[in-house]
Amino acid sequence: MKGLMLISRVCDIICTSTSLRRGISEVLASVADALSLDGVCLFMGGKTYPSPETLDSAPFREAVERGAEGYWVFPVFHGREVLGHLVVKGGKITSQDEILLKVVAKQLDHFSANLRSKRELKMGSRLLLELYTAGKEMGSILEMEEMGDKLAHFARRFSGASCVRATIFDPKGHRSYEAGEEKGVVQFYGEGYKRWVVPLESPKGSWGVLELFLPKGKRLSRYQRRVVYILAELAGTFLENVVLYGRLRGLVDERERQIRYLSILYQVGNAYRMTVELRKRAFLALRALTDPMKGLGLPQAFLFLYRSSSGHLEGLIGISWLGVSPWGEGDWGVDDEYFKRVGSSPAFRDLSNLKLPDALCKELEKGEAVQLSVAEYGLPICERGFSHIALPLLREETLVGALLVGREGGFDSEEIRFLTMFSHQLALALESGRLHETLKKTSEDLEDAQERLFHYEKLATLGELAARVAHDLKNPLVAIGGFARRLHNKMAEDCPDKIYTRTILKEVEEAEKILSDVLGYSKVPHLLKRPTDINALLDDVLFLHAEELRDRGIIVIKKLDRKLPPVSIDAAQMRQVFMNLVSNAIQAIEKKGSITVSTSLVEDRGKRKAKVEVSDTGGGIHEGDLPNIFNPFFTTKSTGTGLGLSIVKRIVELHGGVVEVVNNPPVGATFLILLPLEGEGAPKKEDTKG
Ligand code: ADP
Repeated sequence: MKGLMLISRVCDIICTSTSLRRGISEVLASVADALSLDGVCLFMGGKTYPSPETLDSAPFREAVERGAEGYWVFPVFHGREVLGHLVVKGGKITSQDEILLKVVAKQLDHFSANLRSKRELKMGSRLLLELYTAGKEMGSILEMEEMGDKLAHFARRFSGASCVRATIFDPKGHRSYEAGEEKGVVQFYGEGYKRWVVPLESPKGSWGVLELFLPKGKRLSRYQRRVVYILAELAGTFLENVVLYGRLRGLVDERERQIRYLSILYQVGNAYRMTVELRKRAFLALRALTDPMKGLGLPQAFLFLYRSSSGHLEGLIGISWLGVSPWGEGDWGVDDEYFKRVGSSPAFRDLSNLKLPDALCKELEKGEAVQLSVAEYGLPICERGFSHIALPLLREETLVGALLVGREGGFDSEEIRFLTMFSHQLALALESGRLHETLKKTSEDLEDAQERLFHYEKLATLGELAARVAHDLKNPLVAIGGFARRLHNKMAEDCPDKIYTRTILKEVEEAEKILSDVLGYSKVPHLLKRPTDINALLDDVLFLHAEELRDRGIIVIKKLDRKLPPVSIDAAQMRQVFMNLVSNAIQAIEKKGSITVSTSLVEDRGKRKAKVEVSDTGGGIHEGDLPNIFNPFFTTKSTGTGLGLSIVKRIVELHGGVVEVVNNPPVGATFLILLPLEGEGAPKKEDTKG
């Protein structure tokens, strides 16, 4: 009866108790009570459960190890394994009690196994739930970074490891993500820590590894290990998705980028068709590069073009914006108002004073984009901290310009490819713009020439008429002059009427000069060219004017290059040229002044030429008169014919030379004549008919 009650009580405790320690204490107390024992003690799973609680357990342990009088030891079996010992002391232990105590020992094993299973089950379901949450969270991740972080975080949470490192294999380089307060542990895991490595795989491949760092002696439970494996398997599949998604997204991005590039090329190409003006086309190109809405959105773009006059790539225009784009939202417009507005925005750069360094041009001549080191080329327009590249604009193989673009972070190979294509298109657009401008200028020149021809035809007719009149007037004038001189000579010196004959003679002389000018202009000159010493010719002309120059107090400064070789010219015609220039210089000087006559040997476009300069300090030419001074009959003098300079021009040009004026008001004017030496561009024939 006593036995049955004890067993029923023990079963009750085992079924209802949720705490192992409390349950065992109650079972032991019931056993001690039912069998009237002095004490009972249980050693199980490395722990000691004494009853009553105050009991000294040492003799009981000794009894297990060596056996002792008055102590009974009952092993607690789990299958064949001995889990612990139940030790009782005192009282009379009958054989029935012995059986009872063996049953209790068995029940205690069941009790501990049950509680362990229950606890593991609870933990297992909690981990499963967390695994489910982890799976859900990780399943929706598409970024590698985030996946790495989450994986390390969950692996650490499930394992309780000191530190977890998730390393993901990437073709560009493996990337590691760590979780855990003891991140540094990774470096010294050999000392005091052990490492547990789990691969991250999927059927399609191996995507990385998970490393768990645990202090030596700490073990993962069966459940924890299982969960970490499941997590690693899930992560393998998710990583495969992330990698595939990344590749797919890369392809889509690449495609979108190419479509954008094509669209920019197409739109700017269309826009180029709206204008042929070089500057406007340049504006359109800069918009395509810098407009964040319609173009590439680069913050800096500058355009340089080759100038044959300087032989350099000189700056044209550029855009540099950091805050607000200067382009606004409008469509690709080419109206003047629009460009004026952009041209006055702070982003606009007029680069007319800038020259691209020769070293950079040399690089560009190779026909490839050049990564710029601003420090190396020292370009002031380039924003510090930006990366810049220069792209050549080529006509056939010749460098005709350059594009300079810059932004933070540099340019990848795809962008450089696009910019190269863009420059080719721009080079064509600018070239056709340039051709158009040349064509326009040629047609304007042609119209001008036509007008001049018409004008000359009129002048020729006028000249012919003037020549006939002059010719007809010449004989009567000679007669008037002759008779007047006779009369004048016959008159006594003190005759009061002599003043009239003197006036007639002076006026006749003036009229004869005018007639000779008109006849000289209307006559088509025949050149009789001989090698002539130009310096001697000038000496002659100045000698003829010597008296007048002295009377007027005009100083003559001669700077004649005596080594000047003889020049093949018609000396008589050229004397006329120098006479006219010196006369004009004398007439220009109202009071005192100076005339400088100089000669030199110069090189002009690879050919040697004789240079003659006649400068005066006569105040210069009125700006408004400048375009007309070489026109026949243009004069500002009351007694002038306006033929002097046109005769000069005609004779010089017949000699294959040029005449130019350098006006320097209020000081004076310089007339400059360049004459080719024989064999260096001079008309060859001895006798040249104009
Ligand atoms: P003319 O001497 O009969 O006026 P030209 O053809 O020689 O005719 O000169 C045309 C005009 O050019 C002159 O009337 C004068 O206004 C201007 N000119 C020519 N040479 C000079 C000079 N050395 N200084 C200032 N003006 C000049």
